[in-house]
Amino acid sequence: MATVEQQLPDGAELRKHNGIIGAGEGIPVENPATGEIVATVPDLGAEGVAEMAVRARAAQPEWEAYGFDGRARVLIRAQKWLMDNAERVVETIVSETGKTYEDAQLAEIGYAGNAFGFWAKEGPNYLADESVKSSQVLVKGKKLVLRFRPLGLIGVIGPWNYPLTNSFGDCIPALMAGNSVILKPSEITPLTSLLLAEGLRECGLPENVLQIATGRGATGAALVEHVDMIMFTGSTKTGTKVAETAARRLIPASLELGGKDPMIVLADADLERAANFATYYSMQNAGQTCISIERVYVEEPVYDEFVAKVSEKVRALRVGKPEGFGSVEVGAITFPPQLETIKDHVADAVQRGARVVTGGQEVAGAGRFYEPTVLVDVDHSMKCMTEETFGPTLPIMKVSDADEAVRLANDSPYGLGASVFSKDTARGEAIARRLEAGAANVNDAMINYTVLELPMGGAKASGLGSRHGAGGIRKYCSQQAIVVTKLAMKKELFMYPYKPRTSKMLAGLFKFMYGRGKRA
Ligand code: NAD
Repeated sequence: MATVEQQLPDGAELRKHNGIIGAGEGIPVENPATGEIVATVPDLGAEGVAEMAVRARAAQPEWEAYGFDGRARVLIRAQKWLMDNAERVVETIVSETGKTYEDAQLAEIGYAGNAFGFWAKEGPNYLADESVKSSQVLVKGKKLVLRFRPLGLIGVIGPWNYPLTNSFGDCIPALMAGNSVILKPSEITPLTSLLLAEGLRECGLPENVLQIATGRGATGAALVEHVDMIMFTGSTKTGTKVAETAARRLIPASLELGGKDPMIVLADADLERAANFATYYSMQNAGQTCISIERVYVEEPVYDEFVAKVSEKVRALRVGKPEGFGSVEVGAITFPPQLETIKDHVADAVQRGARVVTGGQEVAGAGRFYEPTVLVDVDHSMKCMTEETFGPTLPIMKVSDADEAVRLANDSPYGLGASVFSKDTARGEAIARRLEAGAANVNDAMINYTVLELPMGGAKASGLGSRHGAGGIRKYCSQQAIVVTKLAMKKELFMYPYKPRTSKMLAGLFKFMYGRGKRA
């Protein structure tokens, strides 16, 4: 077991707040692939968060004064730092999630590497003053500007499945916008955040502009009480609580929540590609991705062939402790209660008549693993088709046609991502447009998440707001409308005293402008 000081760059700093590091009363961080405790972090609690908030607010004005260029320089240095330290970051992610080295490299290092550069470059464009033109006749000749300014202190609360991508994917634009940030990582996976915070400090991020509030749910709840805006990623259940507090405090909340992403395979699809995508995007990260393919609807003529192909590919996957690149395809179940959910969903399906084609069992031995599993003969009476499983399971359902597939795909409280496979891309797109999902990929899956120019957010119970794109950084700002009158007369025409002649003239003007049944 590594010493706390080795694992936790913030150790000394955090110890000041509650003095529990090393005392055995903190939160143990387990390697889910081995069961070993790799570090202990403090549970900061409400008092610790309150102190952090004071320091964060004191540090913010200087950071804002760095300007876009100054802040971008820090982010670009951080991008290089991440690449220089990629091995160490991957090891840390793997040690606390039990995911494979490939999952850590591709979906975490690859994402964050891109994100640092993207926000450094595009942040200033998205947040630049916008000169506005107006159809309002009374402001002709005036200067109209939409301006974005940082809200001040942003709280980011993250889940355990992507400790780098999910948490820092949101911290980076919040910082680029000129805010200070307090990040509350999941208590299951706090080490990556502490390491990244150390890296950002090395890259010149001023003290207290980014602080890591390690702790359990109560620490997250306390954070919502102190910040000017909350960015939450996690379950719909917790997201609802966060939204309630945000509503009471009248602060904006952006919520990225759970999903039950459907995949639709039409009879004319490239079945080999569809089967590869179904296999990869249901099993990648051991199925613990908010936008994993969680259920598949296949048109009847190609159902048997599709099931055969997917089952063969899933059967070939190696599951177990990641020992380095290329060692296994499917890693550990990171969060202990998740294993119970997976087992429950499979048992429920079997009890209601589903058949396990491959997998279906917890892997015995040290660490927490579940066999890559394919289920057939499933329907919407089963949890595996209606509730988020978040594991390496793939239920496949036969449908008579595309309309039935769309109806079933939309028969869900969630609406995060979706995918449609068809060689007729126009038809595929038309079906994608009928899906109640924040993103829909045709002949692809999940890839929209990597496109930082496109908004990523959920419909229905999958969330409120979005990350990425212009909205993904503007949400960390307040908007200010600036109107500057240059040509200033002593008074305007419509002012006191009211005179019938002026009112008649204005009535004529409005009629001319708005009363002709034409576009102005
Ligand atoms: P969770 O809701 O249990 O926890 C998320 C975070 O909230 C943790 O840091 C937790 O400590 C904190 N928390 C717990 N109670 C809180 C409270 N009362 N107030 C404030 N914070 C509190 O979720 P999880 O199990 O860590 O993550 C898995 C879930 O996240 C899945 O549902 C998954 O789909 C979702 N997720 C969504 C996205 C997305 O972009 N939409 C991305 C990743 C994960």
